[in-house]
Amino acid sequence: PRPMELLNDALDETFQQRQEIKVKGAVVHWFKNDLRTADNRALRAASEAASKAGVPLVTMYLVSPEDFEAHLTSPVRVDFTIRNLKVLKEELAKLDIPLYVETVEKRKDIPGRIQELLEEWDASHLYTNMEYEVDELRREAKLVRALAEKDISMDVMHDTVVVPPGTLTTGAGNQYAVYTPWYRAWVAHVHAHPHLLELFDPPAKNHVSARTKFKDLFASRVPDAPANKRITKDEAERFRALWPAGEHEAAKRLEMFCEEKVGKYTAARNLPAETGTSSLSAHFSAGTLSTRTAIRMARDRNKTKKLNAGNESIQRWISEIAWRDFYKHVLARWPYVCMNKPFKPEYANISWSYDAAHFAAWCEGRTGFPIVDAAMRQLNHVGWMHNRCRMIVASFLAKDLLIDWRMGEKYFMGHLIDGDFASNNGGWGFAASVGVDPQPYFRIFNPLLQSEKFDPDGEYIRKWVPELKGVKGDAVHEPYGRGAGPEAKKKGYPEPIVEHKGARERALAAYKKGISSD
Ligand code: FAD
Repeated sequence: PRPMELLNDALDETFQQRQEIKVKGAVVHWFKNDLRTADNRALRAASEAASKAGVPLVTMYLVSPEDFEAHLTSPVRVDFTIRNLKVLKEELAKLDIPLYVETVEKRKDIPGRIQELLEEWDASHLYTNMEYEVDELRREAKLVRALAEKDISMDVMHDTVVVPPGTLTTGAGNQYAVYTPWYRAWVAHVHAHPHLLELFDPPAKNHVSARTKFKDLFASRVPDAPANKRITKDEAERFRALWPAGEHEAAKRLEMFCEEKVGKYTAARNLPAETGTSSLSAHFSAGTLSTRTAIRMARDRNKTKKLNAGNESIQRWISEIAWRDFYKHVLARWPYVCMNKPFKPEYANISWSYDAAHFAAWCEGRTGFPIVDAAMRQLNHVGWMHNRCRMIVASFLAKDLLIDWRMGEKYFMGHLIDGDFASNNGGWGFAASVGVDPQPYFRIFNPLLQSEKFDPDGEYIRKWVPELKGVKGDAVHEPYGRGAGPEAKKKGYPEPIVEHKGARERALAAYKKGISSD
C-alpha cells in the first residue's frame, strides 16, 4: 500500500477506539510545517477540544538534525524555521498557550519522545497536520496505532492543501497526470465545496490557561540551529533583513502583494528584474501562511466567489498557488517520483554526465552564460530564485550540461529558503522532461533567447554578475560573442563552458537513445 493509504487505514481502523478516549490533563498540538496560529486546521481542532474539556492546550515542535539532513533542508531554511518558532512562541504565549521546542538527535526517536512527552503532560489527545512525504506518512501511520494502544488519540489532518490528495480523479478513476485538466477539476471541486476555503480562527483564549500547570514550558527556550545547519553571522543578518519571520510578516507581505501587484501579475511574473511575484513561497513552505488565506484574499479582490472569473492576473496567481496542491497530489499518488525515479520508466535510461567541473561551475554561477550565472548567484546569496530562472538553470543543467537532474534537485533543496520536496521535485521533473506533465524533451531552452526575452535590458544580469556591470547594450547577454569579451575577461568573467547548439544536439541524442533503449 502507498504510505498515504497506510496512514488513512491507521486513522480509520482506530477511529472508534479514539472516539472513546476521554480527555485527560491536556490536549496537545504538534507543529511541523504549519508555524502559525491563524487558519491552522489541526491547531484549531486541538484548541476546540481543549476548550470543550476545560483543560489546557499545549503545543510542541521537535527539531531533528537528522531529519534536516535527510530532507536536505538548507541552512537558510533552518534559520527561518528557528526564527519563526521564536515569533510563534511569543504569539502563543499571548493566548496562554506554551510552545515547547526540543531537539531530538535521531529521527527514529521522535515517536518515542512524543509518547513520553504526552505521558509527562498527562495528555490524552494529540493533533497535527498531515505531511505528504513518504517517511512522514509512514511514521504517522505507526504513531497513530502505537498511541491508540496507550489510550491516546492522534488526529492527523489535511491542512497544507486546499483539496486533499486522492479527491480528484479522471473519468477512469485515476490521478491526473496533466496539470490543466487537474486544475479544471480542482476549481470545480472547490466551487462545489466552498467550505474548503473557509478559514480557521486562531485558538480561542477561553480554555483553561496553561500558565500554572505548564509554567516550565513557557520558560523553555527555542534551541539554536543544530550544528550541521549553522549559518555565518553575515548570512544571519542578511537573511533576517530579507526574510522577516512570523505569520504577521507573511500577512503583511500578502496584503502588500494583493494591494499593489497581483492585478499586474500576468505581465510581470516572468521578468526576474521586477518584483512581480509575491515571494511568499518561503512562508507557504514554513506554514507561516496558509494557501487558503492567500487564495481567499486574492479571490475577494475580484469581488466574486469564483476562482476562474474576474481579473485575469488574479486568476493566474491563484492557479500558480494551486501547483502546490498538484505536486502534493502527485507525491501522494506516485511516491516513487520523489524517490529519485523519473515518472516514466524509459527516462531512467538516459546516460547522464557527472562532470564535476561543469557541475561546480553551475553551482557557483561561473558557466559563462550570464542569465544562468545571475540566477545561481541570486540563489546562493538570498536563498531564493525567480521561477523563470529556476526553469532556465534547471534546463541548462539537465540539457546543455546533460548532468543528472537529481544533482540539481538536491542543490536546490540545500540552498532554497522555500525548499519544498514535492514542488522542487515537480519543477525539476518538468524542466528535465522526466516528471509528471513535463516539458517535452525536445523543447530545449536557448539560454540566450530566454535572457533577451525575460531580462531585455540586462538589469537582472548586471545586478547579480558584477563583472558584467559595465558591459553596454545587448552584449550583456553574450559578452564573448558580442564584442565585450576583452572587458569580460579583464573582470574575470568566464567564457561559456559549452556551446549551446552542440550541447542541444548532444542532449537530443542522449534523450532519444535513452528512451528508445527501454
Ligand atoms: P508566485 O509567483 O507569487 O506564486 C505564488 C505561489 O504559488 C508560490 O509562492 C508557490 O507556493 C506557488 N507556485 C508558483 N509556481 C509554482 C510551481 N511551478 N510549482 C509549485 N508551486 C508554485 N517552489 C517551492 O515552493 N519550493 C521549491 O522547492 C521549488 N522548487 C522549484 C524548482 C524548480 C526547478 C522550478 C522550475 C520551480 C520550483 N518551485 C518551487 C516553484 C516556483 O519556482 C516557486 O514556488 C516560486 O518561484 C516562488 O516565488 P513566489 O512566491 O514569488 O511565487
